[in-house]
Amino acid sequence: MKNKIFVFDLDDTLYKEIDFLYSAYREIARWVELKFSLKDIYSFMLRAYENKSDVFSLLIRTYDLPLTKDDLLDMYRLHFPVICLDGDTEGVLNVLSLNYRLGMITDGRSITQRNKYRALELDRFIDDNDLIISEEFGSEKLSEKNFLFFQDKYINADFFYIGDNLRKDFITPNRLGWTTICLLDDGRNIHSQDFSCPEIYLPQLAINTLKDLLSLPGKNEDILITKNNYE
Ligand SMILES: [Mg+2]
Repeated sequence: MKNKIFVFDLDDTLYKEIDFLYSAYREIARWVELKFSLKDIYSFMLRAYENKSDVFSLLIRTYDLPLTKDDLLDMYRLHFPVICLDGDTEGVLNVLSLNYRLGMITDGRSITQRNKYRALELDRFIDDNDLIISEEFGSEKLSEKNFLFFQDKYINADFFYIGDNLRKDFITPNRLGWTTICLLDDGRNIHSQDFSCPEIYLPQLAINTLKDLLSLPGKNEDILITKNNYE
């Protein structure tokens, strides 16, 4: 039997990116309140976000802060987030990692994504050497290079990619013959999912919860066995 390699996207797949946003807003609000003797900044920012405003520009303008938008963007990206895996995700990663090698391919800035990886304590399940962050790797999310890294490292395996973004997550692994799996939006995703795209962009499977990875249909009977470890 071939070995299986499960490679995950990070944002809105292993945790909800909106929780990173809340964490960053809380930290920025606390700092702004202390520094400029203000209050209720967090709720101001949340309201602005819900109104789809340019939150940082509006904050600076409303309170006449001696800051630039880039100052606040840096704080957003560089802060160490207070985020955690939900119980189901933790359980699924635990079971899968007992039986299979897990990896991650994620877009974004190195420091931001590494902070998330650390905050979520993902090193329990995904080795640092199997973590591909596009900025560090000198690639874009769509780049074949990210996926070939795993194919070259783990010869003669079946590869799975689990993500959420139809615009960029599945086209490349589809081309390379991976099994692509989309975690469906539960209403909390930052980017909406649009399934009306060319077929090559579509995932082969769609799941409502990562727990469904433990009972994939068809060729993955051995995963079914591991489900007993979880329930
Ligand atoms: Mg994502």
